[in-house]
Amino acid sequence: MSDTDSATDSDSTPSLGVVGAGAAGAAAAYALRDADVDVTILEKSGGVCGRAATRRRDGCYYDHGANYVKEVDERTTSLLAELGTDGLVEIDEPVWTFDGAGEITPGDGRDSTKRTWSEGITQLAKRLLNHADATLHGRTRIESIDAGETWTLTDTDGEDYGPFDALLVTPPAPQTADLLRATDWDDERRSALLDAVDAVSYRTIRTVVLHYPFRESYPWYGLVNPDYEHAIGWLSREECKPGHVPDDESLLIVQMSPDWSAETYDESLETIQSEVCDSVATLLDDDRYRDPDWADDQGWRYALPDGAADADPIRAAEDDGLYVAGDWVVGEGRVPAALWNGYEAGERLRTALK
Ligand SMILES: Cc1cc2nc3c(=O)[nH]c(=O)nc-3n(C[C@H](O)[C@H](O)[C@H](O)COP(=O)(O)OP(=O)(O)OC[C@H]3O[C@@H](n4cnc5c(N)ncnc54)[C@H](O)[C@@H]3O)c2cc1C
Repeated sequence: MSDTDSATDSDSTPSLGVVGAGAAGAAAAYALRDADVDVTILEKSGGVCGRAATRRRDGCYYDHGANYVKEVDERTTSLLAELGTDGLVEIDEPVWTFDGAGEITPGDGRDSTKRTWSEGITQLAKRLLNHADATLHGRTRIESIDAGETWTLTDTDGEDYGPFDALLVTPPAPQTADLLRATDWDDERRSALLDAVDAVSYRTIRTVVLHYPFRESYPWYGLVNPDYEHAIGWLSREECKPGHVPDDESLLIVQMSPDWSAETYDESLETIQSEVCDSVATLLDDDRYRDPDWADDQGWRYALPDGAADADPIRAAEDDGLYVAGDWVVGEGRVPAALWNGYEAGERLRTALK
């Protein structure tokens, strides 16, 4: 027996397989932290937290996917504190706006508290999983699912995981759809669920990271383009996050608009960098931004869902032990939306697996 079979040892402890260790998958494991359920998480990346991602380079930490977690409600505030306040930081400066012509104006001041961690936003999933009692297999991309009385997952190396009593699938909708297509399961339920999952479209975002050996001061942390008429959709200063950027340096996170990002998705950073830098220099009216001392980038093909999936087939699948969770289930491309959707799935699983 391989170590991956341990979740379904011959005792009667129910077992759950979770595909994906983003906010939703990690929160589901956290919700089950003191339940009598063996949780095994399969994650295709080397790290955790999915699109809430952090990189490290030359003394900088930078969040190149989700920028922060908003304390949207009391339960989010309490959960972040429960996970440990050490290294939990607040971004004090506000988000302002700019229009298609590049005119910058103050925001509406209605910003709720914006949080990340001094070591980056991936701390969210790391901390959720530190509190959970789950086995995590990184660099494990699930390719197909075998259904019967129980669920078995197979990765791209042909390795099997399970059998599990229930399954929670959390990748973005198009990747969840690919998995469902490769699932041997009740045809009628599968096609109803697939219709719901396939209906969710996504915006693509290309993040370009620009580092400079100087720091300018501004009254804002981030600038957002609400009218979608600028090539830049979002620009923010990572140095506003305590612990992210050494003194006297600056690191800009530039998220290009969905149209621009989709058009240039396959082009190299070298090809697009000067256009992005020119746009930044023009927007900030400072030529020094044309020449970063280093740059990085990441394409997010499935960055933000445009809407929510139909809830009925999702709930119907749960009768067979197949659960899905993530931002696309609620139709809101926000970390707290994904997190609480995963958490609530975990709570339903706790009841179902009793
Ligand atoms: C550029 C960008 C900026 C954003 N800005 C913000 C922001 O400022 N604030 C905010 O709240 N939200 C923001 N978001 C949205 C936020 O990141 C997401 O809503 C949230 O992280 C989604 O979490 P999730 O768990 O649903 O999905 P994901 O984070 O996508 O997690 C799914 C996980 O499944 C894994 N996976 C996929 N396929 C497989 C497979 N076959 N086998 C195994 N594992 C698999 C993935 O690697 C991933 O770790 C932003 C997103 C992007 C891309």
